[in-house]
Amino acid sequence: MATKIQWTDQTWNPSTGCDKVSAGCKHCYAEVVTRRWPKTFPDGFDFKLHPERFRDPYTWRKPRRVFVNSMSDLFHEQMSLDILQELFVSIENQNYAARADFLRQVPAAVRFISAEPLIGPLELDLHNIHWVIVGGESQLGCRAMDIQWARAIRDQCREVGVAYFLKQLGGHPNERGQLTDFPIDLQIREWPVRIAQRELF
Ligand code: SF4
Repeated sequence: MATKIQWTDQTWNPSTGCDKVSAGCKHCYAEVVTRRWPKTFPDGFDFKLHPERFRDPYTWRKPRRVFVNSMSDLFHEQMSLDILQELFVSIENQNYAARADFLRQVPAAVRFISAEPLIGPLELDLHNIHWVIVGGESQLGCRAMDIQWARAIRDQCREVGVAYFLKQLGGHPNERGQLTDFPIDLQIREWPVRIAQRELF
């Protein structure tokens, strides 16, 4: 499915729906979307596998950046182990930083951490990590992201040469999601191989 999410070209959802498990889940975007469009998501936010989508990537002819399971959790307890060949982990605050250790074990060409919604400061071990995406929370009642948290992660990425991508500052994405909305030193959107747009500072 085509997407407006800045860092990716396409979403692919082998499952939809989920159960809330950690602090970052409080204002889950996927839950809001499934409830807003009941015809598209007749099962609401209940977890559901979509086996008919499992082989969709084999039909793609051109390379693309894919957001796997934008509407669910790839590691939900009901997820089939057969499709757990790619690993994607969100880390929203320091309590869950150990998730990066599992990610490091995955033999993938690009391993990235999604620090979104960033609801606390993070000290990350970026060894064998290629990319960090940072963003604030964006749904109704969203918790504020301290801009210094985003800067601190930027600096950690700079120290070890990891690509950094600031997706949004939090709040309504149409108001605080544009690169020009960011402080000049945070107008950074890098990809692990090709640097598409970056302000030097
Ligand atoms: S989709 Fe992600 S944020 Fe939403 S409830 Fe599941 S694990 Fe939490």
